[in-house]
Amino acid sequence: APQPRLLPEPKRLGVLSRLAPEPMKVVLNWGRRYSLWVFNFGLACCAIEFIAASMARHDFIRLGVIPFAPGPRQADLMIVSGTVTDKMAPAVKRLYEQMPEPKYVISFGACSNCGGPYWDSYAVTKGVDQIIPVDVYVPGCPPRPEALLQGILKLQEKIARESLAERYADSPSVGQLTSGLV
Ligand code: SF4
Repeated sequence: APQPRLLPEPKRLGVLSRLAPEPMKVVLNWGRRYSLWVFNFGLACCAIEFIAASMARHDFIRLGVIPFAPGPRQADLMIVSGTVTDKMAPAVKRLYEQMPEPKYVISFGACSNCGGPYWDSYAVTKGVDQIIPVDVYVPGCPPRPEALLQGILKLQEKIARESLAERYADSPSVGQLTSGLV
């Protein structure tokens, strides 16, 4: 018997979202915010606190964060933890650009937020947001693992309210993929 022809995934979701935009938005955002595959960009001491947050005591997996993506092409969330040097900055940017949309960034700790104790160093980038967009900033030197859990919850609140159509309104190439989505 001939197999029924299915529309490609974005088009199927587009049809559904036009029929029921608000429920589809809730369902899609629910799925995205509780399946964040994380790419750890550990650059200095803050990375140790990130590792602690992923271990059994703090266990960020229970929040829907999945450690660890084998590389940026599989990741939804980049967590930059540590000192971003000017020499490392191009690599951070290149790996961010390799992540598929929709993608998110948490800046974890004073160094990646603004340079931290190295604010007057000639070799340190004063904030990773100078090279890539940041969704959530976690303060501290170093922040405790609980602070990262709070940052993840803040990011999930943001994703829950998000509209992909609005997010990609200025990006025609990505907008075509998500056309009709909520
Ligand atoms: Fe190290 Fe403090 Fe910088 Fe974190 S913020 S990488 S703990 S110096």
